[in-house]
Amino acid sequence: MRSGGRATGGRNDLVLVINSGSSSIKYQLLDPESGVVAASGMVDRIGEEQAGIEHQVDGRTIQHRQPIADHTAGLRLVFDVFAESGHDLATAGVRAVGHRVVHGGEVFYRPTLIDDDVVAAISDLSSLAPLHNPANVAGIESARELLPGVPQVAVFDTAFFHGLPDAAKTYAIDAKLAAAHGIRKYGFHGTSHEYVSGRVAALLDRDPADLNQIIFHLGNGASASAIRGGHPIDTTMGLTPLEGLVMGTRGGDLDPGIFAHLVRAAHMDVDQIDEMLNRNAGLKGLSGVNDFRELQRLIAAGDAAARLAYDVYIHRLRRYLGAYLIELGGVDAITFTAGVGENSPQVRADALAGLSRFGIAVDPARNTAADRAARHISAPGAEVAVLVVPTNEELAIAQAALRVVAAQRAD
Ligand code: ADP
Repeated sequence: MRSGGRATGGRNDLVLVINSGSSSIKYQLLDPESGVVAASGMVDRIGEEQAGIEHQVDGRTIQHRQPIADHTAGLRLVFDVFAESGHDLATAGVRAVGHRVVHGGEVFYRPTLIDDDVVAAISDLSSLAPLHNPANVAGIESARELLPGVPQVAVFDTAFFHGLPDAAKTYAIDAKLAAAHGIRKYGFHGTSHEYVSGRVAALLDRDPADLNQIIFHLGNGASASAIRGGHPIDTTMGLTPLEGLVMGTRGGDLDPGIFAHLVRAAHMDVDQIDEMLNRNAGLKGLSGVNDFRELQRLIAAGDAAARLAYDVYIHRLRRYLGAYLIELGGVDAITFTAGVGENSPQVRADALAGLSRFGIAVDPARNTAADRAARHISAPGAEVAVLVVPTNEELAIAQAALRVVAAQRAD
């Protein structure tokens, strides 16, 4: 939970945000205007014996461990726990449900009010995101069943990058094959990149239209974007969230020849390779751990594999930093966000080390200050602003959902 406390808004101000993953459901009930979170939690290990829920409300945590068969059962448990904690969702005055949907393909490029056709279209996009869209659809269907009178809005992770320039979004493969199968760079984490870039403009007290920005969203998944005048001109993730930076369990950029080589030499099939690339590559593949704090502990203990994993991670960040500096023709602000970006001064310092000739310099004291708020960490007088800005995808989704509902009522 990124902000705590009781909701201060009236009964009809709250939006329920649902982020339904392959085996988990994260959720937050919040006031989109104040950002105050009334309750939040996570159902995990759906489909396993050891499934359960952890629910935070009014400064306390409610936990249950029990088998949860599927997403419908998971969401039903969320509703039960809300009721148990004295906040019955059916009567809490939930104004909208905002769903994070991973892949909007070419079809969806703005937050969209959900009806049967929209659910079918999101489901049709599952071939582009087989690990994500089916789970998103399951979450949507369950929420529509449990809160039948409440408008539901889909907010797409790809939407912000919909208008990427052709040269940035086109893969240099057989054009007919690409067109037939929807193969292009879509980009992901768009809600975060959009939210954070807006916060940067506000913090710098500048019109977003006048800013060139580079944003590093470094969490379990990781991506970077180059944003000119409020519009992204490039991003690291591609057709799928596998491309680009080194991540917790995904390796980012690879020679595509590795795929065929593994089929021929290691006799792996497509599912084994997909599984390896999604769950056993990146930091995990190199060092055995995907959590960044564990990686740092291993490095401190002298583990050579963990050290190499870190070096590859930083090398990749800097490769994209260089690329985006040139693509933008100069940058006004470089921003770090998400779990690693917000919390690791070491990563920020190493990513930007030795770049003073480009106007980029991190101030060591500002960088290591124990401050969780959005802030500058650049050295005084440095030409480029370097910032740490906490992301808040739930808030951005709640605000988008509310805007859609308000616009619909105004029609
Ligand atoms: P998700 O992509 O699941 O939303 P987060 O944005 O929460 O992920 O980021 C999770 C990552 O952030 C984990 O690798 C975790 O180890 C890392 N992280 C969290 N706190 C710290 C910290 N203090 N120092 C370094 N890494 C951290």
